[in-house]
Amino acid sequence: MVQKYGGTSVANLDRMRAVAERAVATQREGNDVVVIVSAMAGETNRLLGLAHQITEVPDMREMDALAATGEQVSAALVAMTIHALGGRAKSLLGHQVRIQTDAAFTKARIHTIEGSKVRSTCAEGSIAVVAGFQGADPEGNITTLGRGGSDTSAVAIAAAIKADVCEIYTDVDGVYTTDPNICPSARKIDHISYEEMLELASLGAKVLQIRSVELAMKYGVPIHVRSSFTDTTGTMVTSEEGLEAVVVAGIAYDKSEAKVQLINVPDRPGVVARIFGTLAEKNVSVDMIIQSPSREGGATTDVTFTVAKTDLARCKDLIEQCAREIGGAALEYDPDIVKVSIVGLGMRSHAGVAARMFGILAGEGINIQGITTSEIKVSCIIHSKYTELAVRALHDGFGLDKASAAVGG
Ligand code: ADP
Ligand code: ASP
Ligand code: MG
Repeated sequence: MVQKYGGTSVANLDRMRAVAERAVATQREGNDVVVIVSAMAGETNRLLGLAHQITEVPDMREMDALAATGEQVSAALVAMTIHALGGRAKSLLGHQVRIQTDAAFTKARIHTIEGSKVRSTCAEGSIAVVAGFQGADPEGNITTLGRGGSDTSAVAIAAAIKADVCEIYTDVDGVYTTDPNICPSARKIDHISYEEMLELASLGAKVLQIRSVELAMKYGVPIHVRSSFTDTTGTMVTSEEGLEAVVVAGIAYDKSEAKVQLINVPDRPGVVARIFGTLAEKNVSVDMIIQSPSREGGATTDVTFTVAKTDLARCKDLIEQCAREIGGAALEYDPDIVKVSIVGLGMRSHAGVAARMFGILAGEGINIQGITTSEIKVSCIIHSKYTELAVRALHDGFGLDKASAAVGG
């Protein structure tokens, strides 16, 4: 049994006691128990904040050495709490369970995990308390898996030891039709497919980190998202399509990106390749890209794209240099944006869903600054001040506040 506890679930010693009690009870029911812990609530932000007081662009290797400490503290404290209850437990860091990652500091990807250390810890009757979020690259440098990465540690360990289920304990009692903290009419989903969860997560529903869902899907690990504050059943994330025929299953929003606009760049082959090639070399991922259509005989075009706010400081110089070399381009940055998205497998077979989304936003007087679509989602960039308004209007506009959901259209 793998149980992952997020920041609020280990926020203080009382909460850690609840974690320890649950883990011990699960072990007494006859299970081998592996607990994965996050840093105490707010701790990762505090650590990153300290680094940014020193410099706007801290060294990435040292950032990971710093950020990983939050989880080490939680793991040791939870293990001690289990001891205090009379149970047996051992804390383990990422490198001790041989979570090997690539060397992409602050967003490393797991290559391999050796299940043997976790298994032998359980075999000796101990609860393995593993520090989430961290691993080590082939050189032994400490790496972290990106914000929310403890979810991925948990699913990866669950896959490595072939756990029956990976329980994700958090501060909400499941996956909702949208973030229940900003939309009071959000409803809990009993069951959601990997595919839809993947889309929701990639569009900002931070209840599960996207990589964790990818891994769960790849290795067939069932995920149970539930609350560490209650015993109620949460949401099962599995391969089954639980929401058949639902056009829109959920609404997500993401405030973590900033918009960059290159205005009047020369309209000739190689220009966008140049811009995005430069960013790729620095490991900066770009999300939305919008290029205004070339006009016949026109000499220039505009290119708009979004990058993570956390990458913006690092790529500003690069983009400015690039713009100078390309010639003629003006540059604008806008961090005050949010991407709101509607997601649903049923969109594949229904027309008019995007139009309805635009209509709902227009009805609230919200201007759309950019649009992207895929088979099962539509995303719009809008001003961040409209986040709550847009999410609530879309949620209720697509009927997600009602038990029968938005079937049909
Ligand atoms: P943890 O620290 O336990 O990992 P997170 O803060 O990372 O918790 O994730 C839980 C949060 O995800 C919730 O408090 C909620 O605000 C947010 N969230 C966003 N979208 C959803 C959704 N569709 N369903 C549930 N929670 C969501
Ligand atoms: N502590 C890390 C974070 O805040 C990892 C996690 O909580 O999953 O992003
Ligand atoms: Mg999280």
